[in-house]
Amino acid sequence: MTQTQTQFVGLIGWPVEHSVSPAMHSAAFGALGLDWRYVALPTEPAGLETTIVRLREIGFRGANVTVPHKQAVMSSLDEITPDARAIGAVNTIIVQDGKLVGHNTDSGGFLGALQGAGFEPAGRRALVLGAGGAARAVAYALAQAGSAIVVCNRTAQRAAELAHRIRSTGIGVHVGWASYKGLAGLPLSDFDLLVNATSVGMWPKTDASPWPPTLPIPSRWTVFDLVYNPVQTRLLAQARAAGATPIDGLEMLVRQGAEAFRLWTGLLPPTEAMRAAARRAVESMSRARE
Ligand code: NAP
Repeated sequence: MTQTQTQFVGLIGWPVEHSVSPAMHSAAFGALGLDWRYVALPTEPAGLETTIVRLREIGFRGANVTVPHKQAVMSSLDEITPDARAIGAVNTIIVQDGKLVGHNTDSGGFLGALQGAGFEPAGRRALVLGAGGAARAVAYALAQAGSAIVVCNRTAQRAAELAHRIRSTGIGVHVGWASYKGLAGLPLSDFDLLVNATSVGMWPKTDASPWPPTLPIPSRWTVFDLVYNPVQTRLLAQARAAGATPIDGLEMLVRQGAEAFRLWTGLLPPTEAMRAAARRAVESMSRARE
């Protein structure tokens, strides 16, 4: 297709000012010389439907969806991929023949970053902290890759619901759940992987960790923190001090963004340019608040 006009994709969330995605996608478009723009579409929950209608009317090619809309947006879309439906969250929309199609690129981004760091989940045991949108994508990716899972969340009922959701996909792995308070009672040495899919440790509360300081982290664990702002979190420092293998959230961010880029443009994403831009954006945010 010959493009004579600037093409637009958006970021739907509330708030969106601190997102790294505009810098990352603008760098990607620039690297390939595309006349595409990635624009923030700050949307309060009450305005979600209006933003979705405008997306279609104005002729956007797609959008990313972030907190707090990843679940609510699903009812406004024409189609949802089977994976996004099983996860129960959409983070990427593409406009295809006038239809809005919802995808989830968080789960593939997570799995790619995990395997890229040398951890193969098949036949392993994972402890997932959190039961929000990101935890749903993580638990689904791990289950599909053949890992047994225990979901642990502050609100225990949400942990139980997420475990039930994964079991009901029919993927034949063990999925259990526990409350946050029940962490110390779990057989921790049986696990291989800890994933933080809570927002604990994220800026501005960077001194916080989702892992209790009194509970030893086994040195054989791999510890993956989805939080990427800051890149080096308190949890990852605890993991390093315990001799465990840390993985930060930046690579997942890049990989979920690269897959969204591929869906919108049909082109191979310039991941090096995206990685460099994401790192620069997070570092400049850190410097700005020092
Ligand atoms: P969300 O849907 O709002 O879920 C937040 C989760 O954190 C819930 O499980 C919540 O527990 C838990 N939580 C919040 N405050 C807590 C506290 N003080 N103590 C214990 N648990 C607490 O958010 P989300 O979309 O899943 O995102 C979670 C994190 O993942 C964010 O930091 C986000 O930036 C990150 N993320 C990173 C990537 C990446 O590419 N690296 C992609 C997606 C998300 P309750 O259920 O009890 O409220």
